[in-house]
Amino acid sequence: MLGTVRLVVAAALLAAAMPGLAEQRYITIGTGGVTGVYYPAGSAMCRLVNKDTDQHGFSCSVESTGGSVYNLNVLRQGNLDMGIAQSDWQYHAYRGTSRFAEDGAFEGLRAVFSLHPEPLTIVARADSGIRSFADLKGERVNIGNPGSGQRATMKTVMEAVGWSKDEFALAAELKANEMASALCDNKIDAFAYVVGHPAGAIQKATTACDARLVELASEPIRQLVAERPFYAMAQIPGDMYRGNPEPTTTFGVRATLVSSADVPADAVYALVSAVFDNFQAFRGLHPAFEVLEREAMTREAISIPLHEGAKRYYREQGLID
Ligand code: GLU
Repeated sequence: MLGTVRLVVAAALLAAAMPGLAEQRYITIGTGGVTGVYYPAGSAMCRLVNKDTDQHGFSCSVESTGGSVYNLNVLRQGNLDMGIAQSDWQYHAYRGTSRFAEDGAFEGLRAVFSLHPEPLTIVARADSGIRSFADLKGERVNIGNPGSGQRATMKTVMEAVGWSKDEFALAAELKANEMASALCDNKIDAFAYVVGHPAGAIQKATTACDARLVELASEPIRQLVAERPFYAMAQIPGDMYRGNPEPTTTFGVRATLVSSADVPADAVYALVSAVFDNFQAFRGLHPAFEVLEREAMTREAISIPLHEGAKRYYREQGLID
C-alpha cells in the first residue's frame, strides 16, 4: 500500500517536472477513404499539429473512415474529436433535417473552418456512352458506401429527379478506394464521388483505363442548386485527368472541418493555430488546397456556429469580429 502511494507521488513529481509529458492529449480526426482528399487533408493538419506537440501538448492522428455522414454520426457519439464533412451534411446534421431527421438536431455540432470545393463527380467508362445524369438510367452505377457523403448527396439528386435505386441495373455500394478498379475491370459503368480535385481514385480510374467525367448541368440539376444554400455550380478544370481535356460543368459543396462543443477549446485552438500559422506550408501539402484563403475559410460554407477554440484564434488574428 505504502509502495503504491510512493509510486503515485513519484509519478506526480515526474509529471510536474515534465509538463509536456503530463499534459499529452490527443486529437483524432475522422476523414474518408485513402484515395480521396479528406485523408491527405487530415494528415496534413495532423503533421502541422504534431510538429509543435512539445509546445501545446496535443498529438494528432487521422482515421480513414466511410466519409462525411459517418464522421458526423461518430462525432455526435463523442468518439471522434473532429471530422471532415461536406457542407450539405454539416447543414443538415445541425438542424436535424433530411437524412438526420430521425436522429434530430445535433445542436452541439461546431464548425472549425471550411476547406476545398467538392464537386459531385460522375466518372464513367468511355465505352459506356454516358454523357449526362439521365444516361445513368439502366447502367451499373456505384452510388457510394453507406456513411459516405456521395451516397447521401446522390440520394438527394435521385429524389429531385424522381429516381429510386431500381432505375439502375446495379446500384453498387463500393467504398471510395474500390471504385477505380471496379470501373476499369468493367464491373460498373460509372461511379459517383463528391471529392476535391485531383483525387487519387479518379487519377487511378483515368490512367488505368479510358474514363470520362460527366457533365451535370441539366435543368433539374440547376433547379436543385438554386433551391439549396449549400450547393453551387462548379467546374472541374480540363486536363486535370488523362483523356479529359475539356472542363466539366457540375455542381458541388465544400469540405469543412467540424467538431463538437464537448471538445475542449484548447484542442481546437491548437489545431487551428497549427494550420493558420503555417498556412503556406499547409496549402502546399495538396493541390486541392491551392485555392484556399484564410479569411474565406472562417466564413464560406459554414452554416452552423463556430467552435469556441476556433473563434478565439480568429478573433486574436482579426479574422472575425
Ligand atoms: N466527400 C466524401 C464524403 O463525404 C469524401 C471525399 C474525400 O475523401 O476526399 O464521404
